[in-house]
Amino acid sequence: MGEAISLLSKMPLDHYQIISGGTDVMVTQRLSMHQKNRDWLDLSAIPDLKEIEVHDKGIRIGAGVTLSALRRHPQVQKFWPMLAASAAVTGAAPIQNRATLGGNLCNASPAADNAPVLLAYGASLEIAGQQGSRIMDYAAFHVAYRKTALAAAELLVAVHIPYPPDKSVSLYRKVGTRAAQAIAKVGVAACFQIDAAKTIVQARFGIASVAAIPCSLPTVSHYLQGKKIKQIDAAIVRKGITHDIAPVDDIRSSAEYRLETTSRLIWDAIQHVE
Ligand SMILES: Cc1cc2nc3c(=O)[nH]c(=O)nc-3n(C[C@H](O)[C@H](O)[C@H](O)COP(=O)(O)OP(=O)(O)OC[C@H]3O[C@@H](n4cnc5c(N)ncnc54)[C@H](O)[C@@H]3O)c2cc1C
Repeated sequence: MGEAISLLSKMPLDHYQIISGGTDVMVTQRLSMHQKNRDWLDLSAIPDLKEIEVHDKGIRIGAGVTLSALRRHPQVQKFWPMLAASAAVTGAAPIQNRATLGGNLCNASPAADNAPVLLAYGASLEIAGQQGSRIMDYAAFHVAYRKTALAAAELLVAVHIPYPPDKSVSLYRKVGTRAAQAIAKVGVAACFQIDAAKTIVQARFGIASVAAIPCSLPTVSHYLQGKKIKQIDAAIVRKGITHDIAPVDDIRSSAEYRLETTSRLIWDAIQHVE
């Protein structure tokens, strides 16, 4: 890891194309002359990036862990089932065998399937550069369309996710043109902390493919806090969603479809609290 960071910091910005699993890079490489003239810095043989460590506070997932390894990991399935689910619908098996969690986040597509899950779980990122390591909330990582908070010569090292609260309910759904092998039109992850009386203590959401960056629903989260299912007004939830997201029209879907689908998926997720 140290050697990779040192190489990056010694060369001019843009000299190296960082590559991990290569499933995004190989596609852009074919499409861009600019990419073809760059040297590659391949992270795939750095053992630290491949580690998954489950500890008393949560899980640390190396940026180079493949989506296949994630979806099959027994403790990921048990404690963070939304992540096992999102990894399992990111492309198909051949892609999942190479594609890494770090690559999915650093590629910074607004449609990245694992992004909403990490927002809903309140994940943070471990980033390393010449000055050392820093931890940042994943919610602050995407700063603009396809732009991340990574500085020049910084690498994403790991993703940290705390255990979901003892009493919690979570749901992840992806809607695409087909059931498999399709980029999301909408991806929704929801994680509710509830108390013994099924009052919502905290509601956290992550949404993919509806805006320039993966986003959350702060207005809806605020409204739901302290409410039981029967106190929740569907019209207020929908109004909150309309306030929090400004869906885009693009080749995959219309803004209208995205807003409607997001609203229905969020309402469906809320029903799981009961
Ligand atoms: C056929 C096909 C289907 C796909 N389907 C889906 C899908 O359904 N859902 C979805 O979300 N994605 C999909 N993808 C996109 C891709 O597979 C994922 O985004 C994947 O997780 C990228 O991981 P990777 O390791 O291959 O990244 P790479 O291609 O190696 O890298 C991607 C980007 O991240 C940067 N990067 C990688 N690791 C680091 C690091 N540690 N630190 C800093 N920068 C880093 C690279 O420089 C590059 O810019 C698909 C791709 C293909 C080709």
